[in-house]
Amino acid sequence: MSIRVERLGYTYNKGTSLAANAFEDISFSVDHGEWVSIVGHTGSGKSTLVQHLNALLFATSGKVLIDDFLICEGSKHLREVRKNVGLVFQYPEQQLFAENVREEIAFAPRNWGVSEDKIQERVTWALDSVGLSSDLLDANPLELSGGQKRRVAIASVLSARPRYLILDEPTAGLDAKGSRDLFQTLCAFQDQGIATIHVTHDLELALSTSTKILVLDGGKSVVWGTPEE
Ligand code: ADP
Ligand code: MG
Repeated sequence: MSIRVERLGYTYNKGTSLAANAFEDISFSVDHGEWVSIVGHTGSGKSTLVQHLNALLFATSGKVLIDDFLICEGSKHLREVRKNVGLVFQYPEQQLFAENVREEIAFAPRNWGVSEDKIQERVTWALDSVGLSSDLLDANPLELSGGQKRRVAIASVLSARPRYLILDEPTAGLDAKGSRDLFQTLCAFQDQGIATIHVTHDLELALSTSTKILVLDGGKSVVWGTPEE
């Protein structure tokens, strides 16, 4: 069980006059139980890169293998890949859409065919895993605080029970305490056997938590290795 990215490159609007290279020649891997951080300044290609891992974008060069399935447009494995790889977007507003928190979190398991009686169990579990009270179940997700919105967005991905969880700058915009608290919550997921891919521009944080770190700079991989390396 692993994610393998081999010499991956992506160009937006390839073959048109608007072609823009997001990154090139990126290789890394994520194994079961790992915590891999992807670090880089704004514009270095992090968000574009992680969208390849759950088949929202497809390689324009190189390849991505998820649990040995090659990710390409039209592959019959895409549904399974999207179920196993949960992506929490950089901005919760890109993701939240339901009328209330209950429906937001129930959407993924329902979409993946979990039976109705098990869905409520999943909702309760996911909400609890992100440290939110069940008092919020009927609240409108978009009316919550910044920190609560992020937690709901994470719960709505966790509820599908992914094997890999990608968090794109999950603490951005939160104050120091909010960010520390959320990060503690996220660290606990590893104990449940979920491999985490954490996109951040905080190298210090990455050094203290990761099994491996990928550093991007201007769309190029400058470091791939363990924190010690
Ligand atoms: P990061 O997440 O590290 O800030 P992004 O992946 O968002 O980096 O962006 C990488 C590069 O791709 C940037 O140069 C950005 O301007 C460009 N880019 C991002 N999204 C698009 C898009 N939809 N169309 C064209 N270029 C884009
Ligand atoms: Mg980004």
